[in-house]
Amino acid sequence: MIKTNNNGLLIVISGPSGTGKGTIIKEIVKDNANMWLSISTTTRDMRPGDIKDETYFFITKEQFEEKIKKDDFLEYAIVHHNQYYGTNKEDVLKRLNKGYDVILEIDINGASQIKQKYPEAIFIFILPPSMEELRKRLTARKTESKEKVIERFKAAYKEINEITKYNYVVVNDEVQIAVNKIKSILTAEKCRVDRIEEVYLNTPEEIMHEDLADIN
Ligand code: 5GP
Repeated sequence: MIKTNNNGLLIVISGPSGTGKGTIIKEIVKDNANMWLSISTTTRDMRPGDIKDETYFFITKEQFEEKIKKDDFLEYAIVHHNQYYGTNKEDVLKRLNKGYDVILEIDINGASQIKQKYPEAIFIFILPPSMEELRKRLTARKTESKEKVIERFKAAYKEINEITKYNYVVVNDEVQIAVNKIKSILTAEKCRVDRIEEVYLNTPEEIMHEDLADIN
């Protein structure tokens, strides 16, 4: 009866380091063959647990700046400790055109660049249950120096101030609850009336002609 737009959803997820965005996103992508998590490019050093070309594409500052010149990024920003992070344009557009839903896990600057270029994207902000809990989670990771943890904690306050620029907010109290909330958001987004491209609707006379004939 209706034909809806087959393009995938562009989903932007942001939130301070330590909110558990990564865990939530992994769960969402895990059992959904139609969903793709974009792999960003960065100049930051690899950390324990990082996997080359999977967590990120790790390149040098010079290589990153070369890519900026070639307009290879959908968005890019300098995030923590003066390191570049960017979304690879070609990878994302190719998947969206094929109908995949694409998740970008990016910071608030990147998100505002995407909002200008793709206002129809869905912007979701993940919050920790409390700032005390965020501090605990950041400290427990033990993958970074104390200075870097403090820097990330302070950055969290700045990021949270931008929350009203997003469409949805999800508190990560329990991973599975947060995952279910995001899945519900995406289901609702797929049902939006503005995704309808065509409506095929027969007239009542065409459908009820037998009943109408009986009356006459
Ligand atoms: P981490 O160094 O912990 O992997 O990531 C730090 C921050 O960089 C995260 O908050 C993440 O959202 C952001 N980030 C990761 N990839 C990108 C990207 O491609 N673009 C932008 N703007 N931010 C990113």
